[in-house]
Amino acid sequence: MAMRSKLVAGNWKMHGELVQNQDLLKRIMLETAEPGEVDIAVCVPYPYLPQAQSVLRNSHVFWGAQNVSQHEKGAYTGEISTAMLADFGCRFVIVGHSERRALYGEDNRTVALKFKAAQAAGLMPILCVGETLDQREAAVTEQVVAEQLDAVIELAGAEALGKAILAYEPVWAIGTGKTATPQQAQEMHGFIRDRIAVSNPQVARELRILYGGSVKAGNAAELFAMPDIDGGLIGGASLIADEFISICRAAKN
Ligand code: PEP
Repeated sequence: MAMRSKLVAGNWKMHGELVQNQDLLKRIMLETAEPGEVDIAVCVPYPYLPQAQSVLRNSHVFWGAQNVSQHEKGAYTGEISTAMLADFGCRFVIVGHSERRALYGEDNRTVALKFKAAQAAGLMPILCVGETLDQREAAVTEQVVAEQLDAVIELAGAEALGKAILAYEPVWAIGTGKTATPQQAQEMHGFIRDRIAVSNPQVARELRILYGGSVKAGNAAELFAMPDIDGGLIGGASLIADEFISICRAAKN
């Protein structure tokens, strides 16, 4: 089996507050420091990037953002550039989260442009793909995920996935408390890896594919035990120190 170290990334979404963040960040840093092969990251709201940087600098915990502009700079009021994220020491940036796709109209092409812009600035994109409940029930899950992937491969090339993380996040499992079963998730992770292998087998073997969708301390271990699940993208549970720390520990075993 390929050697891929696991990654657990928190997505705080639009949550946070200076005093609570300080405690959460410190606990994650201190209580996940014991030896073991797992990469850990927190993707925080933009205003808290300096705080994440100041607490986590020189630690094993990476930080990043949840979105970024596809444009380099210029007259884009309210937007944040890849260079700005790099300025604050971000290692990762989430692109194409289903909330961005559904609520802010980000289509596959826009997501692909953001992916490419992130890499050009030396950031590691965490590319989210996944189907809605309607799409699953209509049996078009594979087609939807394939189109989301192909848009990135067409623009950036399959090799570009060698410097990226993928997150399979079934939309019906995000924030709903409904987790995909380990088998359901494995099936899609296997599908994604096989599809990338057609273009580039080595990239497919080495790519880390995270599962996201109501991961908690109580279900993380069984998900992470699946052969093609290389960690998790964690929403709600990443705001609760005990939960997030347990999930990180589950990824070590
Ligand atoms: C997410 O926001 O990417 C996510 C998976 O959320 P939750 O863990 O809350 O379902």
